[in-house]
Amino acid sequence: MTYPGSGLGLLPDQYIDISDRLIKNEEDGTKSLTDPITGLGNLRRMKLKTDKLIEQRDEDPAPFSIGMFDIDRFRPINDLFGRKAGDEILSQVALRISAALPENAMLARISGDMFGMVLPTCFFEKDALKIGELLRDVFAAPFDLGERIVRVSATFGFCQYPFAGATFDELFDKCESALYQARKRGAASIQVYTHEMAQAVRQRTQIEQALRKAVAAQEIEAWFQPVVNLHTKEVLGFECLARWTDAELGEVSPAVFIPLAEQAGFIDALTKQLFAKAIACARHWPDTVFLSFNLSSVQLVDPTTALAVLLMLEKMEFDPRRIKIEITETAMMSDPQTAERIINDLRAVGIRVLLDDFGTGQSSLGRLRDFSFDKVKIDRSFIAALDEDEQAGHIVRAIVNMCDALGLGVIAEGIETAEQARKLVELGCSAGQGYYFGRPAPADATIALFEKAAGARDPKCCSAIAGCCGD
Ligand code: C2E
Ligand code: CA
Ligand code: CA
Repeated sequence: MTYPGSGLGLLPDQYIDISDRLIKNEEDGTKSLTDPITGLGNLRRMKLKTDKLIEQRDEDPAPFSIGMFDIDRFRPINDLFGRKAGDEILSQVALRISAALPENAMLARISGDMFGMVLPTCFFEKDALKIGELLRDVFAAPFDLGERIVRVSATFGFCQYPFAGATFDELFDKCESALYQARKRGAASIQVYTHEMAQAVRQRTQIEQALRKAVAAQEIEAWFQPVVNLHTKEVLGFECLARWTDAELGEVSPAVFIPLAEQAGFIDALTKQLFAKAIACARHWPDTVFLSFNLSSVQLVDPTTALAVLLMLEKMEFDPRRIKIEITETAMMSDPQTAERIINDLRAVGIRVLLDDFGTGQSSLGRLRDFSFDKVKIDRSFIAALDEDEQAGHIVRAIVNMCDALGLGVIAEGIETAEQARKLVELGCSAGQGYYFGRPAPADATIALFEKAAGARDPKCCSAIAGCCGD
């Protein structure tokens, strides 16, 4: 079945809620409440309707739902077939969805290809899910644009009053979170804001607040994992890894708190104090031993990053040639130009730049050619696979050969067994790190390592000092 176009692009009167008309009459007339393309109410009208419902439900405490959906891949349709076709689809969507919604519901176009719904008699999560499924089916029929027929789908998010919020803004926010969650699962998905989502948000807020305090109190610690020469077991340097233990939350992984600090906007403060702590520790190591430091994606889109690193090194009078900066491919990709500038600025003063987690992101070979790296760190997934998978060996060998040809050094990550270390040597890899050689350890432990080693046979041999690879 195909649905006819609305022609005028306006909704017939029966689809416009009477209460919305009343609201309109109450308005001073200066602000429009109607979307000119579809004839539906706009975001403002959706808010007025929701506010009114909230007011009514004050006396009658029954829940209700609001929802939103956006059309998947709408922009390419606009680009491909023109704005007029895009507007026609919006009008047809308005018609179809209005016809499918319960009588007392309200549909609004809230922006671009995004629509909002107020559903006064949709009380529970399961009801919202049902409506979502129904509307998804409504999208299944093609849209008739006259000269052509187009198929589109939409992704849906819903939430319930009062569980998700007591005001329109709160409800809208939660509905957006549900839609965001649905989008992550892919086109035509439906997500209702659930207790689990609420719990995740609460937990996130709790971690963020605790982290903010921890950063202010300089409580994030620098730990260090050795990088060794796979032939001699000599410690070549250490990678600094952030560690945070909160009194209530316990140990929180950097894979959780680093992205959180990025999103909450205090990654710079965190990085700065961590870098200072790392340098303070590295001073106690022999000056042939390097310090490797991770930069996050947010820092690679900030043109002042290189300067901040250099200023810190100058202030702490630390030799830039002992520093390696690790960056991931994904982190570089949001703003390659700025990332390139940062890389070049760092390298200009002798800092070495490492491409971290190689093999995970898009790993385009072009990336290695276009950017000037000094070394590549092979992701630990390949090293783990060496045990079971012959292919993994071929891949590692290919990466090592390619890097050799490009004049790049290679470090293998995540080496956990003697057998993996042996294979890596066989495959031509000469540097590595992993639990087999040493787990990340606090600053004191690294310093003690070298002090203890001073009396040992081979002063920089990891096995001699740490007893971590003694076979
Ligand atoms: P990464 O940069 O790839 O760091 C290596 C991760 O692998 C570390 O996890 C390390 O503890 C772990 N690892 C090392 N050897 C082994 C091994 O043999 N087996 C296994 N299974 N794992 C091993 P960690 O410390 O939990 O850090 C996770 C990620 O968090 C890091 O991945 C890095 O992306 C990020 N991160 C940590 N510290 C910082 C930091 O100071 N700044 C930034 N921007 N990111 C950081
Ligand atoms: Ca790293
Ligand atoms: Ca890595």
